[in-house]
Amino acid sequence: MSTVKKLPGLAAGIKDKLIQQALERKLRQAAAPSSQALARPAEKKAEIPEEHYRFHLHPGYQQLRIINDGASRLGIKNPFFKLHEGTAGAATQIGGNGYINYASYNYLNMSGDPDVIAAAKAAIDRYGTSVSASRLVSGERPVHRELETELASLYGVDDAVTFVSGHATNVSTIGYLFGPRDLVLHDELIHNSVLQGIQLSGARRLPFRHNDWEALDAILQDQRHQFERVLIVLEGIYSMDGDYPDLPRFVEIKQRHRAFLMVDEAHSLGVMGSRGYGIREHFGMDGKDVDIWMGTLSKTLAGCGGYIAGETALVEHLKFLAPGFLYSVGMPPSVAAASLEALRKMKKLPERVATLQARGKFFLEQAKAAGINTGTSMGFAVVPAITGSSLKATRLATELFAHGINVQPILYPAVPEKSARLRFFISCQHSEEQLLRTIELLRTAT
Ligand code: PMP
Repeated sequence: MSTVKKLPGLAAGIKDKLIQQALERKLRQAAAPSSQALARPAEKKAEIPEEHYRFHLHPGYQQLRIINDGASRLGIKNPFFKLHEGTAGAATQIGGNGYINYASYNYLNMSGDPDVIAAAKAAIDRYGTSVSASRLVSGERPVHRELETELASLYGVDDAVTFVSGHATNVSTIGYLFGPRDLVLHDELIHNSVLQGIQLSGARRLPFRHNDWEALDAILQDQRHQFERVLIVLEGIYSMDGDYPDLPRFVEIKQRHRAFLMVDEAHSLGVMGSRGYGIREHFGMDGKDVDIWMGTLSKTLAGCGGYIAGETALVEHLKFLAPGFLYSVGMPPSVAAASLEALRKMKKLPERVATLQARGKFFLEQAKAAGINTGTSMGFAVVPAITGSSLKATRLATELFAHGINVQPILYPAVPEKSARLRFFISCQHSEEQLLRTIELLRTAT
């Protein structure tokens, strides 16, 4: 009870301190230029190049224009922002036409599931469409805690906390927990949200070769003692390549070097393990072997947001102090209710997980037999077809689209230019017939 009373004061105290620091910084920055600007206003204005105050001259925008203008000169249609007219699962509707769809990570077909929809609607009827406050200060609803308790029990750990965005979960968690005296080691293919979090933390960042636990061990031998806390970050299934780390090896290394281990299960929850409990179930490991379990609600769980699961000291800490939780609104009850229902349904229907795994394996085997370069994919829901250039990937996606198949090209800079690809997300709803038709078209088009 006493902690509950302290909450608003604590939040307000931190916020006040941050505001105070920001104000002081602004005042310091403003002090020198303002006296000069007052002395020679016209001269000062002329010195400022246009690209410093016009968005159309921003280097990022300029680069985007070059790519888009080049593509339209080559007659390539923009493959992004396609408008889906209904629920996107193994099939979808775009521009009035039906497509076999591989561009949505609706792995267990929970988005669009009648029970999941009913749970979301019931939550709206009861709680409205927004909680209208941060969880800490009036935004908490029972469905938030039910979802978090269910997630914690899935991992066999103390507790969990949900954030309104998966991306923000990584940014805020890593950004808050680590600092300039710490080291973060990550797989070279780690998701952007992890990189952003490390940047925010100010910690030293070192990538290691993809899935190479020996390379990680060597870095730790060499560097561990120069830092205070060390975090190792992996993904359960790598989102662009569809392979996974040898988790027991990484756990042994993190224990030996006294480091923290974080695993992002965005693409492995619902996909790995006989019940879909993720990479820990796949390897038959204890949930407590990993310090920070992270996942998203946007894939298997048919919602939007992210979670962190682990020991009480971690979760409680983040709930009181991680800025992306503390200073952000609570998740809409309808979203929490949808993900909760999807999670409960996943537990009740392991056959959906088994079908997904069988379809992923089938697609991978057939693609390999057809001579398609699937890289290192292990056939767990994410299978790339590596084309070798962004132009080839875009052309191939356009051709498949003309034949009723929607698949997203992944282009530079999301992946290196030489490994541009089409990325196939497999769902438990895809039929073998759909998968075979896709591979046949892919084979003839490449
Ligand atoms: N982690 C990984 C590995 C991802 O692939 C993604 C995005 N799909 C995220 C985090 C961010 O999740 P969200 O899209 O739910 O914000």
